[in-house]
Amino acid sequence: MVNFQPVDLSESPNVNVSNNAPLTEFLKLVGGLIAIVLTFILVTSLVVDAAILLVPEKLEAQLADTLQPLIAAEYDVIPTDDNTQQLFNGLTHPLPNPNAYTLHLVNDDDTINALTTPGGHIYLFTGLAKKLHTNEQLAFVLGHELGHAKHRHVIRSMSKGVIIGAALGILFPNSNAVGDGIGQLLNVGMLNYSRDQEYEADTTSVDLLQQQGLDPAKGITFFNVLSSIRNDGSTSILSTHPTDKERIERLEQYLQSQS
Ligand SMILES: [Zn+2]
Repeated sequence: MVNFQPVDLSESPNVNVSNNAPLTEFLKLVGGLIAIVLTFILVTSLVVDAAILLVPEKLEAQLADTLQPLIAAEYDVIPTDDNTQQLFNGLTHPLPNPNAYTLHLVNDDDTINALTTPGGHIYLFTGLAKKLHTNEQLAFVLGHELGHAKHRHVIRSMSKGVIIGAALGILFPNSNAVGDGIGQLLNVGMLNYSRDQEYEADTTSVDLLQQQGLDPAKGITFFNVLSSIRNDGSTSILSTHPTDKERIERLEQYLQSQS
C-alpha cells in the first residue's frame, strides 16, 4: 500500500495574497513532490524485493532466452581454454543444478571485468583473466559470479531497475530523460549489486573453493590484483563496489568462523 503524503497547503489559505514569499511556497511544493517520488521509489523497491522471490525460475529462464542472443551479440565470445572450463565445471558441481550455468570467455583485453546475466550466463573478459596470477584467484572470480547467479541477484537488481524506471515514467510522463533513465537503470541494474549481495557472492565463492579443495585464502588474494589495477589508473572494476579492504576484512572474518 502506497501512503502518499499530500502537500499541506492549509498554512496559506489565501493563495493569492503575496505576504507569503512565492519562493518559499514553490520550495514547499518541490519538497513535497520530491518526498512523494522518494516514498514511491522506496515502497516500490521494497515491494519488488518481496515480489521477486515469487518470480518463478521458469519466467527467469524465458527472460534469459530473450536477452541472451542480444547480450551475446554485444561480445566477441571465444572458446574457453580447458583449464578455465574445468575449473568452472568443478565449481558448479556442488550447486543444486550444476548444468544451469554457462561460462563465456569474451575476447576484450580492455575490459577488466566479469559479469553474470539472467539464466546463469557468466561472462569472463580476457582483460580480467590475463591479470589473474593463480588458479585460486581465477576460481574465486568464477565462484563470485556463480554466487550472484545462484542467489538470483541479477534478476533482482534488474527488475528493480525496470520497475523504478517505470515508476518514474508514470510520475514524469513528459520527461525526455525517462527513456534514457530506464535504459541506464537496466544497465546499472545488471551490475550494481548491493553490499550484502556482494558479500553473499564472496562467501559463496569461498564455500565453492573449499568444496573443490582449493585454498580460499589464496583465492581472496584476487583483491590485491584488484587494488593494483585500481592504483595503476586502469578502468576500475565497478567503482560502486564495496572497497576491497572492507570486503577482505569481512571475508577473513568469514574464513575464521569456518575453521
Ligand atoms: Zn559481484
